[in-house]
Amino acid sequence: MAAQMIREWSGIQQFPAATQTKLLELLGKLKQENVSTLTILVMGKGGVGKSSTVNSLVGERVVAVSAFQSETPRPAMVSRTRAGFTLNIIDTPGLIEGGYVNDQALEIIKRFLLNKTIDILLYVDRLDGYRVDNLDRQIIKAITDSFGKAIWQRSLIALTHAQLSPPDGLNYDDFFSRRSDAILKLFSVHDLDVCLDFRVVDVEIPVVLVENSGRCRTNESEEKVLPNEIAWIPNLVETITNVVSNGSKSILVDKKLIDGPNPNERFKFLIPVILAFQYFIVIKPIQRTIKNDIRKESKPLWEQRDMGLANRQF
Ligand code: GDP
Ligand code: MG
Repeated sequence: MAAQMIREWSGIQQFPAATQTKLLELLGKLKQENVSTLTILVMGKGGVGKSSTVNSLVGERVVAVSAFQSETPRPAMVSRTRAGFTLNIIDTPGLIEGGYVNDQALEIIKRFLLNKTIDILLYVDRLDGYRVDNLDRQIIKAITDSFGKAIWQRSLIALTHAQLSPPDGLNYDDFFSRRSDAILKLFSVHDLDVCLDFRVVDVEIPVVLVENSGRCRTNESEEKVLPNEIAWIPNLVETITNVVSNGSKSILVDKKLIDGPNPNERFKFLIPVILAFQYFIVIKPIQRTIKNDIRKESKPLWEQRDMGLANRQF
């Protein structure tokens, strides 16, 4: 990424003073920990609010938002600097198409990320989704297969459309925890019955709420708040900084990670073992059997007759 393309993070000034103070404080904390660049990869299904969340975080309309299909066909990285700190956010196309993981989109994302370091994976879904299904499982598996299990240690789940009234008279916090439990269960061992080869992720992934709508309620400091009174932008950024400081490593997307283990190389070490097995367990016994057979083989009749005749002559 060329340095001249990185713009000043002016969008931060769009936030109310209370949010700005909190954000600058969090950036200061990161700088104290020698983190001066933060690259956030945003992923999830189509239409869940990935691009809107990118815009909300940057405080500017930097990527296109669409209520209907045909969203961003390829990944886009937005970079902003502020007081020596660089924020990179990578928006990506939705990973599900026609009921399956869009492998082509995933390939494009992987190529785009080549030689970049991912500090945070922001996995976006909607709060107002009422079930998780095999598609969710597939998408999480695809991300795990692409970037390794370790990426989940650097991740958080953002649930958009968070300004909702829960159905069936449920309490907001209960609804939120039931929805996050359902999503987190995708990562747990208990879900193995549905997808046997799914690899378990044994980290606790934080779940945060997001409301991108311009009609989001505000508090007396003019910060956008959710029904539980949480100012969601500072809360999201604070959770991101907590994940950055959780002791896990950022993910460097290099060629090896993208290509995965070469299937031709994978079991190469087994070749001498297989050859030895073939020789001692298969070929040798067969040879032995053949030799025995030859030894024991009864002589043809004419030979026996000749021999008999010969015997009689003596
Ligand atoms: P993407 O496909 O995941 O990038 O989703 P978009 O950001 O393009 O959003 C899809 C649609 O959902 C758009 O019409 C957005 O205005 C809307 N949307 C996104 N996030 C929210 C949210 O938090 N609340 C509400 N009410 N609408 C949202
Ligand atoms: Mg989008």
